[in-house]
Amino acid sequence: MKKIDTSVLVGAHMSIAKGFDQSIYQGESIGCSVIQIFTHSNRRWLFKPLTKKAIEAYRIALKNSNIAQVIVHASYLVNCAVENEEIRAKTINNLLMELELCAELGIDSIVVHPGTCDDSDEDVCLHRVSFAIDQIYEQFLQQERAHIPHIVLESMAGQGKSIGYTFEQLNYIRSGCNYKQYVRYCIDTAHTFAAGYDWRRAEGYQEIMNTIDIILGFELVALFHVNDSKKPFNSHVDRHQNIGKGEIGMEPFRRLMNDARCALIPKILETPHETLEQLAEDVALLRSLVK
Ligand SMILES: [Zn+2]
Ligand SMILES: [Zn+2]
Repeated sequence: MKKIDTSVLVGAHMSIAKGFDQSIYQGESIGCSVIQIFTHSNRRWLFKPLTKKAIEAYRIALKNSNIAQVIVHASYLVNCAVENEEIRAKTINNLLMELELCAELGIDSIVVHPGTCDDSDEDVCLHRVSFAIDQIYEQFLQQERAHIPHIVLESMAGQGKSIGYTFEQLNYIRSGCNYKQYVRYCIDTAHTFAAGYDWRRAEGYQEIMNTIDIILGFELVALFHVNDSKKPFNSHVDRHQNIGKGEIGMEPFRRLMNDARCALIPKILETPHETLEQLAEDVALLRSLVK
């Protein structure tokens, strides 16, 4: 196997179809030094805890691999912004299970979509997200914990009624949490672009990065989702494209890969692919952009 440059934290979302340990080996085989996974079907509320054997296999794979970090993406079903009691309860329960599992596996980051607003007042929905996060940590911390995973709020495209499509909204959610010390951010290049942040020109890039620094703080950015966008600027439509082949283009990704402010922040691809080889091409491409 080719030696992976682990000083560049680049990777992709990997399938767990063949087991958590195999997602690590597969990620490594396509040049990843970090990976992201779902811990269960992202269309299901409930999931079984991992067996002791699976946990052990995961630990061994991590130890024997060049994968520096595994990041978890929460289910697409969770919605911390809803008023509906049933969905809210299911959301809190699902994220608690996710926290339990990540604590057990030593995983630091659980990426969560802030939610979808079910009434007209976005502020109310943003508050609900903060409140849900507090409820989750309040329950989780009833026991003494050796490892406390972070909830990582992902920047959204603003498609439909999804919230969290501006840096101000993400900061507002975190600021409203009593447990804000456990809340981090994930910046998705395609989502922000669709939401009205124009990465394309050098000045635009600098302005976005300065805004991230001022409003969120790079120390609180747990990862980037590095995706090009199939849909135009400000379209509010979330469609990922392979790096350099979409509306954002190659140069912003070159800037990002060489930006000292986020050199230590993992960059995860979620680009379209039918085979692992195709995904490997995007990983290699990102690596090739590093000067
Ligand atoms: Zn996501
Ligand atoms: Zn997306």
